[in-house]
Amino acid sequence: MPWPSETQRDTEVFALIDKERERQSTGLQLIASENFTSPDVMEATGSVLTNKYAEGYPGKRYYGGNAVVDDIEAIAIDRVKKLFGADHANVQPHSGASANMAVYLGLIKPGDTVLGLSLDHGGHLTHGSPVNASGILYNFQSFRVGATDERLDFDQIRDLAIKHKPKMIVAGTTSYPRRLEPQPFRAIADEVGALMMFDIAHIAGLVAGGAHPNPVPYADVVTFTTHKTLRGPRGGCILTTAAHAAAIDKAVFPGSQGGPLEHAVAAKAVAFHEAMQPSFKNYAQQIVKNAAALAEALSKQGFRLVSGGTDTHMMVVDLQPFDAELTGKESQLVLDEAGITLNKNNIPNDPRSPFVTSGVRIGTPSVTTQGMKEPEMALIAEYIATTLRNRANPAAVAEVRAKIASLCAKFPVYTKRA
Ligand SMILES: *Cc1c(COP(=O)(O)O)cnc(C)c1O
Repeated sequence: MPWPSETQRDTEVFALIDKERERQSTGLQLIASENFTSPDVMEATGSVLTNKYAEGYPGKRYYGGNAVVDDIEAIAIDRVKKLFGADHANVQPHSGASANMAVYLGLIKPGDTVLGLSLDHGGHLTHGSPVNASGILYNFQSFRVGATDERLDFDQIRDLAIKHKPKMIVAGTTSYPRRLEPQPFRAIADEVGALMMFDIAHIAGLVAGGAHPNPVPYADVVTFTTHKTLRGPRGGCILTTAAHAAAIDKAVFPGSQGGPLEHAVAAKAVAFHEAMQPSFKNYAQQIVKNAAALAEALSKQGFRLVSGGTDTHMMVVDLQPFDAELTGKESQLVLDEAGITLNKNNIPNDPRSPFVTSGVRIGTPSVTTQGMKEPEMALIAEYIATTLRNRANPAAVAEVRAKIASLCAKFPVYTKRA
């Protein structure tokens, strides 16, 4: 086939990809759900496997030519089962949201009651938001964090479970900075006869690296994304007990997806291999140490940490004590100018709307992948505070931006062109 020559190449898109590579490597990436994948993960993602149709599962495909793909998917399944100690794995979900929808489709019926954490208290859209299919199709009831300690309140969760008799309890969070103990969820699920789903999208890498309790021995089903702390390609995964394996596989394909993205499945296999290495344990521990150091440094700068701090890879920062006028929205914008990328985030019981917010969410997975440690976390806190204090002064913001570029240059993400 005559491939497009250099002159016909889509220079427009490739120039933009170069620009994005530049942005990622010259600024601080502090979005808690992001990470930098390895060059090997990217190589698998960009491989010939994107050309193959493989509807079905290893050994049971609808089309021919899948001998190699079967081996790849079988390796991915085998590795992830070992990594988390699971009976069964489905590595085909295109994303975390697809994984969650497949679980609902496979294990409950439209209209069934489900209990999950409220979105504005740290839950995810797919845990029953009224604008998401989960909230449209199922009767989600929400629990909230405690008014004073801003932590999960298992008495409240139990009361709600007894009152609403859910078919399923969904544990898991997207902006909650504390450990999630699986046992109390299991005890409540058993008491009311509910299934327990644990969505570890954010913390899968911490669980794999031993820096957060593993819910697999307690949950009926565990879902996660492979691209957050786990540091793999963009995608989802479902782990289940043997009892639910067939229902889950059927719900993914043919229930809610067509052909799997086998290039992504191969990249997941590569990421699982990387997460099985001893160095990944150090990585997971360092993410948590860095988050603790950054949280402490930010509180010294006058910010309030929701729940008083963090034991994970992320923190939610209440901006109000630092500056009552300052919103999450404005912070996100001016910090972006300074080369600091993070996201606005509601704090529990936020007086401002989700589009404005009184807080920001900050995570350390990406900067930890770059090799930054506690001393750099103190610098980052200082840069954040300086930028926000001088937000009306473009010269001061530009000065921070230059300092951040030189900090990032000391911790290159990709040494060669990736
Ligand atoms: C990120 C996330 C998801 C969704 O993942 P996508 O790949 O963005 O669809 C689901 N649940 C939780 C808890 C998450 O944090």
